[in-house]
Amino acid sequence: MFDKILIANRGEIACRIIRTAQKLGIRTVAVYSEADSQALHVNMADEAVLIGAAPSKESYLLADRVIEAAKKTGAQAIHPGYGFLSENAAFSEACKDNDIVFIGPPVGAIESMGSKSAAKRIMEKAGVPLVPGYHGDDQTPAVLKKHADEMGYPVLLKATAGGGGKGMRQVWSSEEFDEALEAAKRESLSSFGDDRMLVEKYLTQPRHVEIQVFFDQSGNGVYLFERDCSVQRRHQKVIEEAPAPGMNPAVRTDMGDAALLAAKAIQYEGAGTVEFLLDKDDTFYFMEMNTRLQVEHPVTEMITGQDLVEWQLRVAAGEDLPLTQDQLKINGHSFEARIYAEDPDNDFLPVTGTLSYLQVPTENAHVRVDTGVLQGDEVSVFYDPMIAKLIVWDENRDRALSRMATALSEYRINGMITNIDFLYNLVTTEPFRKADLDTGFIEKNRALIFHKSEADVLHYAPLATLYLILKRKHDIATLAAASSEPNSPWYAGNGWRSGAANSYDFPLLINGTEINVLAEEVSTELFEITIPSTETTLSTQVSGTLDGNELRANIDGHRIRANAVIHDDVYSLFTQDAVVQFSIIEPDYGNQDDEASGGFTAPMTGTIVALPVEAGSAVKKNQAIVIMEAMKMEHTIRAPADGTVVEFYFHPGDLVEGGAELVDFEADESE
Ligand code: ADP
Repeated sequence: MFDKILIANRGEIACRIIRTAQKLGIRTVAVYSEADSQALHVNMADEAVLIGAAPSKESYLLADRVIEAAKKTGAQAIHPGYGFLSENAAFSEACKDNDIVFIGPPVGAIESMGSKSAAKRIMEKAGVPLVPGYHGDDQTPAVLKKHADEMGYPVLLKATAGGGGKGMRQVWSSEEFDEALEAAKRESLSSFGDDRMLVEKYLTQPRHVEIQVFFDQSGNGVYLFERDCSVQRRHQKVIEEAPAPGMNPAVRTDMGDAALLAAKAIQYEGAGTVEFLLDKDDTFYFMEMNTRLQVEHPVTEMITGQDLVEWQLRVAAGEDLPLTQDQLKINGHSFEARIYAEDPDNDFLPVTGTLSYLQVPTENAHVRVDTGVLQGDEVSVFYDPMIAKLIVWDENRDRALSRMATALSEYRINGMITNIDFLYNLVTTEPFRKADLDTGFIEKNRALIFHKSEADVLHYAPLATLYLILKRKHDIATLAAASSEPNSPWYAGNGWRSGAANSYDFPLLINGTEINVLAEEVSTELFEITIPSTETTLSTQVSGTLDGNELRANIDGHRIRANAVIHDDVYSLFTQDAVVQFSIIEPDYGNQDDEASGGFTAPMTGTIVALPVEAGSAVKKNQAIVIMEAMKMEHTIRAPADGTVVEFYFHPGDLVEGGAELVDFEADESE
């Protein structure tokens, strides 16, 4: 076994590899870019080498720098993870030239699978079933079209150099062919610098089922069963599970055998995945082989009880496979959900931001979180927006699914949009529970999955409002307690204002939707919340208590508990089922900084709600000195420095003009 390995990757996969290496007593070397100097993988490794600037082309993709780092630190082997250099034959070759073990298959196997069409030719020869199609060298548009016409529509155009769903186009009729071909070629050329295409019969409702294979250097191979990765957006996986639900055992064996055949055809070594499309009638077709560890490998680990990274290290070090085919068994069911910084409502486009709040579900025998980030880390434009992988296991699919829903509801992130709510909505739909899966699952169930979040806005608005009212009452009570007149009606905190009922009016932004909420205190601690909407006006009775961050609410008789987190004026209420993110839409007061640095004028016409301190008292910097309400919004004016409030020019309840002087304040000398 190796004494020291280098991990040529970042994020969750680098951390995941380091963990196994540590378990085996192998020392680890991380590489990192300038953007990652504080990253988790760097801190976890025994040593770390800076290899370049933030863009991957200037760091993680620079084969020479990685090899130089391995030589400098005396690493005997390099684990490439997935992505970056993992399927780069030239890099694997360079490792060999430098007497460094590449933890992956031989150069020839990477090359053979590098082109989708060349791979198909090899598989065809080996007798592995293929999707009917054309994968020849003649790229004349008329020839490609003739093949499409002959096999019948729909067809799928695929970039032979493709990956990540790019350079793919569905074509539904002969008339559409030319235009689709041009578009696919353009996309492929810009993504891969190569515009060769293959044409395949487009299967309309297939499942994506892939087989994990493993080979040692003596040519022994096993398959570690299948994963169903049918739930995809933009032809990319978001939820994977093992085993594939409803898999016929005979089909499993046939697919396993076909996968072994495929791997043997290219003298495979190490971990590999053979991807198939499985049609409704149980026929299956080879799609491609990935010559590396897959993102979704944990679900296989969970159902087999094996550590695939450990297998990779053992095999690369020349050991035999740890187990034979007969010794491998499927135990229970596992799901993986990929947590992404992306906006499901905006075609799943990646977003960036700082993980200002991060709470992951508690890990145990049922729940595993593979991540490479900590609270405070950034999801930047430079790398993949995957934040983590949430993996669950239980005895059967239903139980595992319920674990997944619970764990997703406990996953709490603030600071950027994520797909967590989307994933929760998806896994709790009836079609998903019934495993009615195919690669069009998200599209087909769009209304069901997305409708939920719209409904949620109206559903959670009363909860959000109750929280805001209780929070405001609490804040005012705190201010009153610090005052000499705690019983003054100005501190009643019941929304009282001259001539108005005990009512509140919040313009809110909830889960990205603007909504106006009215609340009235109908009796002590019981509020009637009204949401005027275009269709029907919802009316809800709510009550509850707020203890620190813990909200106990009663919404029309339904008791709900939630935890509140506030960051940058955005509130997140984490309930058992979902996270409700909201903020109060602030009117534009102009430059707030100017105000804090000494301007004590009313930002706009409004009413003085409370004067939390007495005239003549000493205050600390940032202490609230005037609370006013304008445009139904509360606005707090704070002391810009330690000092003394000499005099107030108004009383609570007074209406003041925008721009009017409110207070005479003297900053301390030393300030
Ligand atoms: P990439 O390498 O770009 O990820 P793949 O060949 O692995 O592309 O295909 C990605 C996804 O596209 C598959 O998981 C499947 O959902 C869909 N797909 C690929 N080929 C076909 C086909 N012939 N018919 C229907 N869907 C397909």
